[in-house]
Amino acid sequence: MSQIVSALNKFEDFVKSIYAPETPVLLHRPVFEGNEKTYLTECIDSNFVSSVGAKVTEFEQKIVAFTGAKYAIATVNGTAALHVALELAGVIRDDEVICQALSFIATCNAVSYIGAKPVFVDVDMATLGMSAEAVKAFLHQHAELRNGVAYNKTSGRRISACVPMHTFGHPCDIVSIVAACDEYNIPVVEDAAESLGSYVGKQHSGTFGLLGILSFNGNKIITTGGGGMIITNDPVLAARAKHITTTAKIPHPFEYVHDEIGYNYRLPNLNAALGCAQMEQLDYFISQKRELASRYEAFFSNSDMTFIKQPKGCESNYWLNALQLDSLEQRNEFLEHTNANGVMTRPIWRLMNCLEMFKDCQHDGLSNAIWLEERIVNIPSSVPVVALKKE
Ligand SMILES: *Cc1c(COP(=O)(O)O)cnc(C)c1O
Repeated sequence: MSQIVSALNKFEDFVKSIYAPETPVLLHRPVFEGNEKTYLTECIDSNFVSSVGAKVTEFEQKIVAFTGAKYAIATVNGTAALHVALELAGVIRDDEVICQALSFIATCNAVSYIGAKPVFVDVDMATLGMSAEAVKAFLHQHAELRNGVAYNKTSGRRISACVPMHTFGHPCDIVSIVAACDEYNIPVVEDAAESLGSYVGKQHSGTFGLLGILSFNGNKIITTGGGGMIITNDPVLAARAKHITTTAKIPHPFEYVHDEIGYNYRLPNLNAALGCAQMEQLDYFISQKRELASRYEAFFSNSDMTFIKQPKGCESNYWLNALQLDSLEQRNEFLEHTNANGVMTRPIWRLMNCLEMFKDCQHDGLSNAIWLEERIVNIPSSVPVVALKKE
């Protein structure tokens, strides 16, 4: 047996021992061990299942209390939250938005819904998130201020937002990114979809930019089935977010009057009920995930597979654990072997600029992103339910 195969067998046995009797071991499944059924039943019994009901407000308040953001506005999913957050940041048709190429498709989709264009900068090797150095370099090379507004000298387009993402829950260097963008009056919209429960110092991710967004999709650290949230400290933006995500209806006891084209992006009460129950378990999920990460870290300490750790000065929720392998060949062997043997693993995303829709977008060479794309894999990261049931 080759050395790599024996290392893979050991890894698979280790994962199976954590998750037994789960077979196959999934990459990330939700856990519903709290008041989910009680709160859902309350909604159904009260008939408030849809766009009216108390659970939405309650869920928003729980997110405010947890993240320290002043305002939270629930949406149908994280992509819708991004769409609205970009619009509120002032992005309009034909603008450019700075994105990382190594990310999930949602950001680029949201930019495209507005008719704006992504431009791609590189990621940082340590955080896997947007590189502050790359943002600075891109702006110094390509941007100029005209009457205080940033324009791309090459394309002539206005650069109206920057969307860093906290990859797998590991915070990127958001403080430096915001500082670099401030020099060019470019608002930052933080894609914190993966980083509920992750902190830079003592401050929650998603609260550094003008606006941040969260996702509660089925694979995230907590889930509402589908759902998202816009977070901000700005009262005017918060009020606008609520207004345009709820069809821009002017409050009235019976008249339908809408004062602009709004969206039907409001989170249904049923989903919010799930969210309230999940929030009660969030501290527990985070502690279990951090415990799992330290077990993985110890397991991989004597291995030629490198476990990705939280960046310095940060506390990560370790939403999705990741390994860095030596080469594309080793990565492929890892993915083939583990998936064939009941341990679900996945490669990191394809770079956005390699997808047909975004292949003509400007980028900075993306050397780290290209290197990481060939080597990063995700490994099973659910909260081990056995541990939960012991409580
Ligand atoms: C999950 C996710 C989103 C939002 O996804 P939805 O499925 O629309 O809730 C956005 N960005 C990133 C990086 C994500 O991982």
